[in-house]
Amino acid sequence: MMHESALIQPADTMMMKIYCRLLKLPTLPRIRHFLWKSISNVLSTREALRSAIVGEDDSCPICNLHPEFATHFIMNCTFSREVWFATLGWSSGTTGSLSEWIGSWFDSMQNGTIKESEIVNRAIIAWIIWITRCNKVFQQTNPTPEVIIHQCGIGLILRNFAGTQQSARCIYLNQVRSVEQAECMGRWKVMQWAKDLQIDRVFFEIDAKVIAHAINNDNSAIDWRLHHTVQEIKNLFSVYRN
Ligand SMILES: [Zn+2]
Repeated sequence: MMHESALIQPADTMMMKIYCRLLKLPTLPRIRHFLWKSISNVLSTREALRSAIVGEDDSCPICNLHPEFATHFIMNCTFSREVWFATLGWSSGTTGSLSEWIGSWFDSMQNGTIKESEIVNRAIIAWIIWITRCNKVFQQTNPTPEVIIHQCGIGLILRNFAGTQQSARCIYLNQVRSVEQAECMGRWKVMQWAKDLQIDRVFFEIDAKVIAHAINNDNSAIDWRLHHTVQEIKNLFSVYRN
């Protein structure tokens, strides 16, 4: 495995490219900052603290099996792998570094394999893994991957007509049953947000075709438990159609 310490030596072209792309990622500044610190090896992991505090335990607080590098707890810890597999179907068999992985996200976006919103979702998941790890260290909680999987975070981004980010929000949904429910709740939240901001003209972008179809046509293809939320979205939508 490539060690983190190797990654911060002269900021090479690849790292500069990732930094620039991260800076433009339309998500909360704290999440961009977290990812930047993670790939720059300046995140306050136990391994990083060990070099400053003599005798400090550097083991991962989640699994206690490996030194806590950012690459380990975000990518390779058994806990994180379960979260990534459950949320993205991603199985970590790679020996690459975190920066290489994050760099591959942007490469995939460039070649059209994934959308920018997918990168935002991944950034949120990585950030929630970090928050969960911090809660374990500082509040002695006992996290399980299911807590993150069912907690689900959604990033909402508001852009103007020039495509420039105007604002961003991150919301958490507890006890989410499905991706459909998360997408549905996300759509409802963003419409409430636009209404609160009293924006007259707005275009909504959504990844889930089945939810878009339920809102614009009929809801027969979605879980009946989402029908009420879809109806509320339609009611809000009527504000913009008039
Ligand atoms: Zn671990």
